[in-house]
Amino acid sequence: MKNIILFGKPGAGKGTQAEFLKDTFQLIHISTGDVFRYNIKNETSLGLLAKGYMDKGDLVPDEVTIQMLEGEVVKHSEAAGFIFDGFPRTRSQAEALDAFLAKNDMKIAATLALEVAEDILVDRLLQRGKESGRADDQDEEKIRNRFAEYNKKTAPLIDYYSTQGKFHSIQGEGSIASIAEQLTTIVEQL
Ligand code: AMP
Repeated sequence: MKNIILFGKPGAGKGTQAEFLKDTFQLIHISTGDVFRYNIKNETSLGLLAKGYMDKGDLVPDEVTIQMLEGEVVKHSEAAGFIFDGFPRTRSQAEALDAFLAKNDMKIAATLALEVAEDILVDRLLQRGKESGRADDQDEEKIRNRFAEYNKKTAPLIDYYSTQGKFHSIQGEGSIASIAEQLTTIVEQL
């Protein structure tokens, strides 16, 4: 079973590469951002709660996010593996994920980080905001706040996974195809 974390700042290409890896390795793709957006669209109580945080570019509280993620994993007990996209984003999410996977005889095989400079990401996100209408992609201040959340709360996970020998850094500024090829090479060796 190959359980992979796609790691990187907003706009680094996690969603795009997750779609590719999912098809290549028959994995289940779970994007916590997508699950929150689905709940917002359907006006569930989870969506209402998440919206207040997402609109500002803040992280949704750990307890809510962890519970939601675990719910998504148990929906797919037959899976050959998972791609976690946008989760974990804090140390307590990472610890909860490890504990939850261990309880189910599973573990993380690798964390693949897509590295892209913030100024390039701002341009990418503003463009994506125009195309998708996503509110948190349309305002540079919100985008910068998402980077600040990443740098403060998510970047420490680099050490967390490096210590476990699971952290792989990939230059995320090349073509989609060349990045996909690098990721594939790593995943094939897991
Ligand atoms: P994304 O689509 O991954 O860029 O996520 C969009 C927004 O959803 C983030 O800015 C957060 O507000 C929220 N979100 C997604 N994943 C998480 C997570 N693992 N922990 C907390 N908030 C999250």
